[in-house]
Amino acid sequence: MVPTPIGNLKDITLRALEVLRDVRFVIAEDTRTSGFLLRHYGIEKPLVAYHQHNEHRIAGSMARRIASEGPAALVSDAGTPGISDAGYLLVNACIKEGVEVECLPGPTALIPALVQSGFPCHAFVFAGFVPHAKGRQNFWEGLREETRTVVCYESPHRLTRAADEIVKILGPQRKVCILRELTKKFMETWRGTAAELQARLSAEKLRGEIVLVIHGKE
Ligand code: SAM
Repeated sequence: MVPTPIGNLKDITLRALEVLRDVRFVIAEDTRTSGFLLRHYGIEKPLVAYHQHNEHRIAGSMARRIASEGPAALVSDAGTPGISDAGYLLVNACIKEGVEVECLPGPTALIPALVQSGFPCHAFVFAGFVPHAKGRQNFWEGLREETRTVVCYESPHRLTRAADEIVKILGPQRKVCILRELTKKFMETWRGTAAELQARLSAEKLRGEIVLVIHGKE
């Protein structure tokens, strides 16, 4: 499992590059995106597609292929594979096949967002993506009494809606931090109460990739 940059191509570890150079093949969420990334680092490897639309079907056969053909790296489009990305099923299939799995430490959006928020980070909850449509109300209600900091991923198109829901369900005074485009040129951090960020979002739209960090209940 090889984490790759979430925006800034300098954010790759020496060990990640070494592993990508050493493996027999690279299993990639998007072979075009990863092909570009590997070329950027001067690495040429056979690429095999593995993503949320085929992972249920091919996780087992992929694990057997790794067992017979030798070490492989799994990469997602960005960050750590398995974190809101395909990967979990392959890890399990490999464990079943007796294939040793190692996840390298490296880029992921949730950790810099959590630390940069300024909210307590000694213990936190990563809630993954806020559901796209159905289940949003339950998602926020399940977090209402949470005293630890909550980190979640949200689409910029649903951010205003998320702010409305946080105001309504977690309360207007709940502290929230919105982090946009981490590690990229137009990185931005908005901090405020849910009500303040709701007002700001009604005047100014945010684009790009977003992490939402919500202070726990005080
Ligand atoms: N595997 C990735 C990781 O380790 O963070 C997450 C992949 S998930 C499909 C993509 C989501 O991660 C985006 O919608 C956004 O919420 C978050 N994300 C990824 N890169 C980001 C960045 N540079 N800035 C802010 N959020 C980011």
